[in-house]
Amino acid sequence: MVKVDICDMTIPELEEYIEKIGEKKFHAKQIFKWLHREKVDSFDEMTDISKSLREKLKEKAYILKLSVIECQTSKKDGTMKFLIALDDKAAIESVLMQYHHGNTICISTQVGCRMGCKFCASTKDGFERSLKASEIEGQIRTVEKYTNKKISNVVYMGIGEPLDNFDNVVRSIKIINEPLGLGIGARHISVSTCGIVPKIYELAKENIQCTLSISLHATTDEKRKEIMPIANKYSIEELLTACKEYIKLTGRRISFEYALIADKNDTYEDALSLAKLLKGMIAHVNLIPVNEIKNGVYKKTNKEAVNRFMKNLNDLGIVTTIRRELGSDIDAACGQLRKKYIEGKK
Ligand code: SF4
Repeated sequence: MVKVDICDMTIPELEEYIEKIGEKKFHAKQIFKWLHREKVDSFDEMTDISKSLREKLKEKAYILKLSVIECQTSKKDGTMKFLIALDDKAAIESVLMQYHHGNTICISTQVGCRMGCKFCASTKDGFERSLKASEIEGQIRTVEKYTNKKISNVVYMGIGEPLDNFDNVVRSIKIINEPLGLGIGARHISVSTCGIVPKIYELAKENIQCTLSISLHATTDEKRKEIMPIANKYSIEELLTACKEYIKLTGRRISFEYALIADKNDTYEDALSLAKLLKGMIAHVNLIPVNEIKNGVYKKTNKEAVNRFMKNLNDLGIVTTIRRELGSDIDAACGQLRKKYIEGKK
């Protein structure tokens, strides 16, 4: 008999499952709490549940356990990068960043990525599979347990394109939100996308109240196509129309990520055209000097030019900040640690 992954269920799904196996629905909440808040590894640890139910669960279900293969800690700022093994031995990455407002984790949603963004190491070895909701939420449980630190913010910005794994991502947010579990509010969760337009509309309809973060990185379709293949499918105009709908339905501000690449997208004209595109939107721009990956073609914009770009945008009325580069002494850029691991295995 194939056992079910009991961590992969929201409370209503778990209630339905518990009733299906002939037990009282109220046990679902007890079990959920043991799994997601107490982070137990075995059914035997669920001490307020009868022995007979624990035995039944052992027979029919399993508790997903992810394991840390490697953890690198930055000496500069304490950022911790985890290489995590899934139960089929595939590897993903999670990064724990410590800010003054709390601990933030960046989590993966897929093993590899099929989006092909030119500046990204996560896509270089192709795409293996999407993660289940339990594997997405499990990264938080695993890191909290490993570090004994409470995580208060989650960004879906690790390996993979979250909206290319829509259903599992939405389900994982519901599991993460649940007060009986990790209890992280939707407003503390940010979902990033390279711009899969129809899924932005779907996410808006879910009305989850999470922050949507758009990887824009260029202000004309021509330039964007050079950097991000998704731009061949959806124009910037289509993307921004979807963003406006997201703002309308959720009332949430959108964050636009803009990776500054030397001599590519970092001139005054680029700042001007970015300001023009975002004028009137409830938006925020996050500037990041592009990550220079091994064998990558792009070089990062220098510090002075990044500051100038920010000032230009702020002067043009667009709220802009520079994302702090954390973990610069470790392989903290998305996909780099996993890439090394895969190359090592080869
Ligand atoms: S930046 Fe994101 S969407 Fe683009 S290839 Fe990397 S992981 Fe995929």
